Amino acid sequence: MKYIVVGGGPAGCAAAYTLSKNGHQVKMFEAENAVGGRTRQIQIGKFSVGVGALFLMGGIYPRTTALLKETGHHCQLIPWRGTSELMDNDGSRYPVSFVNLASYLRMPKLTMADRLKVSLAGVKLFLSPGAKNPFDGEDLARYDDGEDLESWSRKNLGDRPYEYIIRPLFDFLYAVPPSWLSTPFPKAIIQQAHKMRLSVPPGGPVQVSEWLVEASKDLELHLSTPVERICECGTGFEVTARGEVHKADGIVMATEAYTASELMKDFISTESYEKLRDAPYTDYAHVQIGYETNPWPDYPSDIVLPVGFGEGPRSVGAMVLQSRRQPSAVPEGGELVGVYFTTPPLEHMNDEEIKQDALDYVHRTFGKPASSPQFVKVFHYKKGLNIAKPGAYGSLDTLRSELPRNIYLAGDYFSQAGVEAAVFSGERAANQLLGQA
Ligand SMILES: Cc1cc2nc3c(=O)[nH]c(=O)nc-3n(C[C@H](O)[C@H](O)[C@H](O)COP(=O)(O)OP(=O)(O)OC[C@H]3O[C@@H](n4cnc5c(N)ncnc54)[C@H](O)[C@@H]3O)c2cc1C
Repeated sequence: MKYIVVGGGPAGCAAAYTLSKNGHQVKMFEAENAVGGRTRQIQIGKFSVGVGALFLMGGIYPRTTALLKETGHHCQLIPWRGTSELMDNDGSRYPVSFVNLASYLRMPKLTMADRLKVSLAGVKLFLSPGAKNPFDGEDLARYDDGEDLESWSRKNLGDRPYEYIIRPLFDFLYAVPPSWLSTPFPKAIIQQAHKMRLSVPPGGPVQVSEWLVEASKDLELHLSTPVERICECGTGFEVTARGEVHKADGIVMATEAYTASELMKDFISTESYEKLRDAPYTDYAHVQIGYETNPWPDYPSDIVLPVGFGEGPRSVGAMVLQSRRQPSAVPEGGELVGVYFTTPPLEHMNDEEIKQDALDYVHRTFGKPASSPQFVKVFHYKKGLNIAKPGAYGSLDTLRSELPRNIYLAGDYFSQAGVEAAVFSGERAANQLLGQA
């Protein structure tokens, strides 16, 4: 059979790998000049700068782990401890381990009563039913009772633990207020938090996609070739890219949801089109600041998470010293600081203000260096990260049964932004296509 995959992010690459592993002819079209989507790296002078993703999460990324083992690359992942600290409004710093939730309980700002309440809620959550797979929208939809993460946390953990544990973690991971998030995904992640181990491929998370492409035998990869049009033709499809028409027996659509909606508009129902078009993504920005000589080689943490009790939305959710996370990203002796923003203030900031705010935060956090950085690069996406509000999983999951035969959707938007969500959905879409064949 001849299959086409549209979009070469981790979802498309996982789909292409699965289809070609099963002996089918596969063409993949990617609009950019490289695979990886929001995990790509770009070169700025001597620096290799990530446009998005930072790390993989070990035990809670089972399908990514399985495919990397299958392709023989899992052993190349470099573990990263992600030594972290919370930075309070008054400048106080509290060391925590990003991957060990229990370490947050040592925070001096928490009272004994807070610690007890969080511990009891943790045990109760661990023992209660929840989504087994945090990246499967169908599983998540079963546990979506309409409650949002802020309400759940304040009620079950208390106000201070909400401010010093839940908010800093989710400001960094999803960059929106917890009141915008439904609970099944974060609860499932918290239930599996003991399996979380951070790691980074030596060349950055983009290598997940590159390795899958390399392992896809006979894959015909078309880079810099955006798909312009798809139409149904008999039992198959015709895909137009750069003016050329390609025939396929089946398709995996692995672009962002809003792009998929436009490409399929002519042959899906208005209801499906609107669900895809309106799948919620948020404004997102990060700033990367490169120094050829590292001004802070001895700083004790790799990640700094700003916190503050009762403050409104903070503009910055996290700062990451990238030389610790991915040494190959910086020239020897250099440093690259990633400043990751949070959405509500961003919506009212222009790129110059974002840049200045990032520099101010970095100087306040690590100290102002004697010399200026080599570059300050803003990555600003009007639709950067998908988020799941209460009700979103169920609504998006129904899309899978609403499309015509032999075309399946893949993308992280069925769960919550993350490489595992993309890989899981890509593999599933390919398997569904194979099941139809
Ligand atoms: C700043 C940031 C930080 C992140 N940090 C992490 C992290 O630390 N860990 C983690 O696991 N995840 C992280 N993520 C999320 C992760 O990057 C995404 O979940 C993942 O890239 C989604 O994969 P995808 O294949 O679904 O979509 P994408 O990566 O967006 O890929 C979609 C692809 O489709 C292509 N495309 C679009 N239109 C067309 C067309 N018409 N024709 C052909 N191709 C087309 C695009 O060019 C793109 O390559 C982060 C994201 C951002 C933005």
